[in-house]
Amino acid sequence: MITHRYPFFLMTLAALSMLVACSAKDKRHKKTNSNADYRTASMHGSGLRNADIALPNSLSGVAGVSHSRGRTTMPYIAMTYDDGPHPQNTPRLLDMLRQRNIRATFYVIGRSVNMYPHIVRRIVAEGHEIGNHTWTHRNLTTLSDASVRQEMNSTRDAIIAACGVKPRTMRPPYGALRQSQRAWIYKEYAYPTILWNVDPQDWKRPGVSVVASRIINHTRNGSIVLAHDLHKPTVDAMPATLDGLLRRGFKFVTVSQLLALNPPVNMVQAPTSPLPPSSPPMMPIAVSVVR
Ligand SMILES: [Zn+2]
Repeated sequence: MITHRYPFFLMTLAALSMLVACSAKDKRHKKTNSNADYRTASMHGSGLRNADIALPNSLSGVAGVSHSRGRTTMPYIAMTYDDGPHPQNTPRLLDMLRQRNIRATFYVIGRSVNMYPHIVRRIVAEGHEIGNHTWTHRNLTTLSDASVRQEMNSTRDAIIAACGVKPRTMRPPYGALRQSQRAWIYKEYAYPTILWNVDPQDWKRPGVSVVASRIINHTRNGSIVLAHDLHKPTVDAMPATLDGLLRRGFKFVTVSQLLALNPPVNMVQAPTSPLPPSSPPMMPIAVSVVR
């Protein structure tokens, strides 16, 4: 008797599985409604993986209008990818990040967000952070405050329309923003200006292995690494780059998470660097270049 019940049981199980799969699919297509907490990506794929890191990412209490690195002495770093989303390169990069359980920050161009909102939804759904990189990618030091405001607002609104979350930080194109502009943008939008302290100059397309070695050799605890998901060779360089950084013991967090790790003033933490003591001090490299 029991034997005869098995086919029915199996059919019921199959029907239930399909129902759950369809329901999960529907959920994937819904907008994220809140930016209270970026979702933590689950473990996928095989091979080296970034640790599952649950850090606060609120920027309240973070001193400083602009940052080129985090102040943590622990081996946390933030990969940042600018000038996307790109219809082919960004999804390919997202696959690479997902395989390694790595979260990154994407400084997106508003007009590209408008063209590829589904990619922005995927970025957020997979636990990454979105930052405001303006609408037209112009040098903001040459624009009036009203024009800068327009760049910020239109990009912010496109991001919200695409994925339902507000950007928490901004990055000026070319890293160009006057101190007075940084101050009023911070006051008005609560965006810290995010620069970087590792720049592989990948936009010059120096070659995949050069991009990877520049990033791996210059990254230190607290580094903010600049790269561009707009360029195919940069994305081609990411498997070697990310695996090299993982092998050195770095843990990947988003920019907001990195800044939330900034120790309060006067608090001294014991260094826990994965690098040997003879490593050179963290130095910004090649910051002010046009790309
Ligand atoms: Zn840019």
